[in-house]
Amino acid sequence: MNVSSLLVLLATSVFALSLGGVLILTNAADTDWSYAGDLGPGHWGKLFPEFAPCEEGNAQSPIDISDATEVDLVEVEFHYGETERTKQNITNNGHTIQVDVSDGSYVVYNGIAYDLAQFHFHSPSEHTIDGEAAAMELHFVHVDRNSNALAVVGVLLVEGEDENEAYTNIFDNMPAEAGEPETMAEPIDLEALLPQRRGYYTYQGSLTTPPCSEIVRWLLLDTPVELSRAQIEAYTALYSGNARPVQPLGKRDLLRSRR
Ligand SMILES: [Zn+2]
Repeated sequence: MNVSSLLVLLATSVFALSLGGVLILTNAADTDWSYAGDLGPGHWGKLFPEFAPCEEGNAQSPIDISDATEVDLVEVEFHYGETERTKQNITNNGHTIQVDVSDGSYVVYNGIAYDLAQFHFHSPSEHTIDGEAAAMELHFVHVDRNSNALAVVGVLLVEGEDENEAYTNIFDNMPAEAGEPETMAEPIDLEALLPQRRGYYTYQGSLTTPPCSEIVRWLLLDTPVELSRAQIEAYTALYSGNARPVQPLGKRDLLRSRR
């Protein structure tokens, strides 16, 4: 390993730590990118040396989901509870609305436990199904307890008839302006944010934001969750277009669980 790859590894670790709930605001690079213009996705790889994977990587995310190979896969085991009031913050971080949780919720996948650190939203969805984007996508970011590998569970959010009450507490508390984390008054029932059916697509990929580190096992649930139009509009009034374009699948396997 040469010095530059060590630096990339270091930058990756720092970012993973910030995902782990330790908010690192000294990393100026983290804020100096955008979804449009000169700081947009097509330029990310050249903005900072540690963002190089954004253009040089070959296992990037998101991707278009099509022609997935159906196979028997293990279940994603969700161990989600209610958040504790003292440990749940909601932040408008300038790129999305993010809720940090650190109350012992986790998933087990292929025998590995990944702790839930935070969840956040994109609009439109980052992953597309046969070229079609959903209104929104929710990302539950989990960190392997023994490495800096991540497992991100993606949930597609689509427009339905009714208000989804599991999400009311979140959408009613989104800070309108980017700034410091705000404590949420009421706990969140994390399990209720998920669809009932847990079939999924999976592939090995990256963070969809700089530094685009290729450390993510993606688990995209194949059943969407419905929100009311008003709920979707509450989010898109703050963030619309915070989705990285899809990246080439390349030689990677894209699998779908048989169910
Ligand atoms: Zn995301």
